[in-house]
Amino acid sequence: NRADVHYFGAGPAPLPTAVLEKASQVLLNYKDKGIGLCEISHRSPEANAILTEAKQALVTLLDIPDDYEILFLQSGGSGEFSAVVYNLVSVWVEKKRAKIAEEVGDDKAEVLKRLRKVVDEELRLDYLVTGSWSLKASQEATRLTGAKHVNIALDARKANDGKFGVVPPEDQWSLTPRTSGGGPAFVYFCDNETVDGVEFPAFPRSLEGDDAPLVCADMSSNFISRKVDVRKYAVIFGGAQKNIGNTGIAIVILRKSLLPPHSTPASPDVLRELNLPVGPIVLDYPTIAKNNSLYNTLPIFDVWVAGQVMAGLVDSYGAKRIGGQEEVSNEKARLIYETLDKYSHVYRVVPDKTARSRMNICFRVHGGDADKEKAFLAGAEKKGLLGLKGHRSVGGIRASNYNAVSIEGAKKLVAFLEEYAQ
Ligand code: PMP
Repeated sequence: NRADVHYFGAGPAPLPTAVLEKASQVLLNYKDKGIGLCEISHRSPEANAILTEAKQALVTLLDIPDDYEILFLQSGGSGEFSAVVYNLVSVWVEKKRAKIAEEVGDDKAEVLKRLRKVVDEELRLDYLVTGSWSLKASQEATRLTGAKHVNIALDARKANDGKFGVVPPEDQWSLTPRTSGGGPAFVYFCDNETVDGVEFPAFPRSLEGDDAPLVCADMSSNFISRKVDVRKYAVIFGGAQKNIGNTGIAIVILRKSLLPPHSTPASPDVLRELNLPVGPIVLDYPTIAKNNSLYNTLPIFDVWVAGQVMAGLVDSYGAKRIGGQEEVSNEKARLIYETLDKYSHVYRVVPDKTARSRMNICFRVHGGDADKEKAFLAGAEKKGLLGLKGHRSVGGIRASNYNAVSIEGAKKLVAFLEEYAQ
């Protein structure tokens, strides 16, 4: 029975029961039209209203400024690993090309020759690798552009015996230097590493300032769980299936200055000449933005769920907006970590204290003894505490503490941790 269970899955993750109850109705009959939400056209007025309302809720929650665009795509989180590369490299190349053309004039061959040199010498994508998802994103960048263009500005494993679990101090990062007009095409990081339980405690200082680079952040697993100063980012993205909704869409918050008419993407012909990738049209931000995320068929049901979840948070937290959720998230995480630390002879939290995720709480039981961890999970399941098994790549236990996990659920987990330890 759903009411007897608390679910700590890492994604797909729990959704508010009230939203699912309403979802089961609208699947059959949306707004008394006699047809369900998965059956109506993505171009209907109803679908448009759903899109508008979902965007509005996100704008309200995160206080997103007017000069940002919100996109919905079917890409999943992983599709955005590719999309940020395609789109931002394209914008970078066109900027350089336009500048060279200004100097050289109409001589296309000469422009291309110089552009090739600039790409060769200057195109760098900086990745801060703090866990398995940013590692994957950096590998995708390498696959698309070639290793030469990817600067691993940080590999956190090097500071932690070959394992993820820390965010080393910024003076140990090797970002591409910012020179006038130069610097990296973008800096990428994963705000919360779902598998390794590592979360950036705050926005990195070295990515701030007047000449700050374009910053891209993967917030798949801590989206709408704390305040975010959106202005510091060029791109924020996340798959919906953890804090926001069901699997099927990714949400992108994009600085409008990266879109036409402010920025022009490079022409596919130029990119091909430079051996740089031309992305699929369904990942092309200008195309998606121009079509209000309806370039192709958008799963409107998924957008509806996300909209309902976000509208619920707007209602719950009022003027505090996402700050209200942040307080709750922090409190739940505090309760659980405090208990794990209290019984440190039984439990060992995997990541370092300075980088512990509030969303994915990763720990070992009895030093990672396989049989004991199995028994722990079985005991938890008996109490209705589900989804606690760690990611298959690292093992151990992972309690994902997303927004739909209630305080009551966190307390039930704490009670079990206490009981097991004793
Ligand atoms: N980024 C993070 C932080 C994730 O946790 C995940 C999925 N667990 C992804 C990206 C990939 O998302 P998807 O499976 O939707 O491609």
